[in-house]
Amino acid sequence: MGKSFEDHSLLKIDYPDPYYSSRNGYSDAPEYFAGRKFQVKCLDLQGLKPYEVATKANSNSVSIAGDGVASIWSYREHPPLYEDVLRWSVEHPDPIKTRSQLLRSQIDQATQNMKGYKVPSFQSPIVRKANNFNKLIVLNMELHVNTRGDLFPDPLEDEIRMLFWSFDDQNYPIDLGIEGSGVFVVNSHEITRKHINFPVQTFRSEVDMVRELISLVEFVDPDILSGYEIHSASWGYLLERFRKVHKMDLGVRLSRVATKQLNKVNDRWGFTHASGIKITGRHMLNLWRPLRKELSINRYSLENVVWHTLHIKIPHYEHKTLTQWFLSNSPGNLNNLVEYYMSRLHWQMKLINKMEIIERTVEESRFLGIDYYSVFYRGSQFKVESLLVRLAKAENFILISPSKKQVFKQDPLQVIPLILEPESSFYKSPLLVLDFQSLYPSLVIAHNLCYSTLLGRLHGYDPKKTQTLGITSWKLPPGLLKLFEKHITVTPNGLMFLKPNVRKSVLAKMLSEILDARILVKDTMNGLKDDSELYKLYNNRQLALKLIANVTYGYASATYSGRMPNSAIADAIVSAARETLHSAISEIEKNEKWGAKVVYGDTDSLFVYLPGKSKADAFKLGREISNHITSINPSPVRLKFEKVYFPCVLISKKRYAGYSYEHEDQETPKFDAKGIETVRRDGVPAQQKMVEKSLRLLFETKDLTKVKQYVNLQFLKIMQNKVNLQDFLFGKEIRLGSYKNPTSIPPGARITMKKVAEDHRSEPQYRERVFYMVAKGYKDQLLRDRCMAPRDFLANGNLELDAFYYITKVLIPPLQRIFNLCGVDVNKWFDELPRNLIAPNLDQLNFKTPLINSAKCINCNTVIQRTLGRTGKLCHECSANELQTIAHMRSCVRAKESQMDATMLICKRCTKRSLRNNNSPLSTALACTNEDCSVFYDRIKAITQTEKTMAAYAEYLSW
Ligand code: SF4
Repeated sequence: MGKSFEDHSLLKIDYPDPYYSSRNGYSDAPEYFAGRKFQVKCLDLQGLKPYEVATKANSNSVSIAGDGVASIWSYREHPPLYEDVLRWSVEHPDPIKTRSQLLRSQIDQATQNMKGYKVPSFQSPIVRKANNFNKLIVLNMELHVNTRGDLFPDPLEDEIRMLFWSFDDQNYPIDLGIEGSGVFVVNSHEITRKHINFPVQTFRSEVDMVRELISLVEFVDPDILSGYEIHSASWGYLLERFRKVHKMDLGVRLSRVATKQLNKVNDRWGFTHASGIKITGRHMLNLWRPLRKELSINRYSLENVVWHTLHIKIPHYEHKTLTQWFLSNSPGNLNNLVEYYMSRLHWQMKLINKMEIIERTVEESRFLGIDYYSVFYRGSQFKVESLLVRLAKAENFILISPSKKQVFKQDPLQVIPLILEPESSFYKSPLLVLDFQSLYPSLVIAHNLCYSTLLGRLHGYDPKKTQTLGITSWKLPPGLLKLFEKHITVTPNGLMFLKPNVRKSVLAKMLSEILDARILVKDTMNGLKDDSELYKLYNNRQLALKLIANVTYGYASATYSGRMPNSAIADAIVSAARETLHSAISEIEKNEKWGAKVVYGDTDSLFVYLPGKSKADAFKLGREISNHITSINPSPVRLKFEKVYFPCVLISKKRYAGYSYEHEDQETPKFDAKGIETVRRDGVPAQQKMVEKSLRLLFETKDLTKVKQYVNLQFLKIMQNKVNLQDFLFGKEIRLGSYKNPTSIPPGARITMKKVAEDHRSEPQYRERVFYMVAKGYKDQLLRDRCMAPRDFLANGNLELDAFYYITKVLIPPLQRIFNLCGVDVNKWFDELPRNLIAPNLDQLNFKTPLINSAKCINCNTVIQRTLGRTGKLCHECSANELQTIAHMRSCVRAKESQMDATMLICKRCTKRSLRNNNSPLSTALACTNEDCSVFYDRIKAITQTEKTMAAYAEYLSW
């Protein structure tokens, strides 16, 4: 029967459109977006027409269908009444309405991983043999200096007081007879082994201490000197201080061979992309830089990386606190100080091992034929060229070295990749995602494109003339073209290339090797599904190979910074890709049997919509389409059937989200998003959480009432300040020194410039994110003046988030872009909410304006009129019921205190575990300023609110 539907051009399955399940706030009026009219249906029972049923009372009036002769009939049952349905819905509450969720004081997030870490657990069931290449010795070092007040350590001013070191002695081929970690201290007070759990050596001066460090380096002879951040701390601080203050070049003393190296001042690229410090014979590992490449998180502090990768919270203490501990002479504080630094070394080592940073770098350097440091230090062109040079040499070719002038003079790129404008909509039926695997490299191989096989341009070809392509000119010998007439491929942009039977392209050879290696790695991955760690490792490897294969096009097309670019070859590759994509689209759409429509395409991928098809049909058709398109293209061009989105939303170019199924028998779909706020890091976390959760609700239920309830509940929480401030932090990368107009400097840069003016050592690292939040200010105060660093915001207990700004300017726009496609105006949802929940401006709070003549009772929150001479903070009723009011106030204070105690307890446990100190006082826990921990914000908020509540009730509690 389903088949006959399709024969008559009817949908086999008519999936329901998004709808409202409640009349509450529903409007029959249509909505218009982008010239389209939307009429969302409401399926509320209240909207149903009365239903006529046969009862004993009215059975005579019931007509009998058919010929009017009924041999047997019975009463129909009553349909459920509205009240019945209501009662049922109360007895079976929707999970979103449970009390605990309603009261949770933060934005509800959607992911199954409710703790919010970005990297899954690293538990590995397979024990692997030690890697033969993992014989590199890493020496980690951190140092402590006493700072001046709130200032950051300055190598010109602040003496190094302690050094903490560790190396992986398990990795060492022989037993060195020393412990793997230790502490050096300038003996300003009695710090001895009885205070701490690590070997301690004391010295009379900083210089003596550093001499011992040099001896240690010479003895251990590490291959890698590492630190978490080695520019302003660790090795960078040490080198800078000794160069400037003690006039000693430690770089030479620490090296294996005494040679003069460039320092970071002369090596800007190295400074911003690797460590910038060069020690002959040893590598410098600036740990956060490779981690930054690996992980996609907002902040790359050690605490945040450990949380996301190892799922452990570790405290962070400011230099000021550490200095106080050092100077306190208290054994407990000194123990905390040492444990803190040593735990940092421990976590650094753990990250190096778990993320396999050294092994992977070694392997990449072997594969690419470049040295270890260049893996971090050099760009992709260097890596492609190193592979190319090796193959070109075997073929007796040499690579040309054009001058910058020649590179600039060549023709500009003329062809751009094919990116279709998607049909922006909510797609309720299955949508196939088909991807040409490594399209550009495959086309280079398929058409034998290369510098070595390029014959020239066909259009206007004149054998007598010299032709110029890219940066080189040449004249083909007379008759050569005729000779190879049958062995020439002409690309869509009119370039002639020799076929592989005459000369095999060097680029093609290189890419074939890379793609073969990638297939091998992928095959290995298939057998590692049970070992998520190893699977991830191999996945990274295949991605690295894919990257190298894909940047080969970039090597030819880098007409600005490239070393050997050729715009003609780059255009040939892109035009061939465009043609491949075009022919695939027309092939898919002309096949009526498939009933498919290509709704989006981007460079090498196609999104094919199958209206009215089931998921099983979609997988069948997906395989059929990919096999057919692969068969009509030259090898190795292959259209791969990636997944099925069901359902999904396409918003605009490179922006979409959907529930994806990769296998036919996959029951739980995966939430996939590209280009939208859930995967972008330039917004606030609340945006990511709300957009993802709303989309999930839409995909799972299609019930817009549920989405509306969720969205409005979050808005209410924000308006009532029942949220965690961490969810409202903007984190933006800044580039100091590149802003010309002082009025258009972004908020993050303004905050940083202000800080740097106070303390030049507080300048963030290159491409480090700076965080800020928007506070409620005075009336007409500019937005940029209300943006402030989280620490400044928290320090002022009177400040509140600008709820209205966050809701209308940050949260509604991304939701609006998505839900407009379903015919919904999210602004209208917000308009239905009471506005008096939003706290007033600061000037109103401070009673600066005489206009305010009403206020709220501090006990029951009802509005009280301030009449002349009446300044009481209680309403009449609360004033009259004195005992009741005081009891209520006391219970409020108790509730706030217990909330505060709960957060403090978490911090106390965390500190105890991390500093291995059972007697650590509460003040140590409260000194933690880990801005990447949600408990930190909760703790400060709970303390501030308790203090505020107690201050507000103070005069009444003493009654
Ligand atoms: S804020 Fe508390 S829980 Fe978070 S890291 Fe610091 S001590 Fe641990």
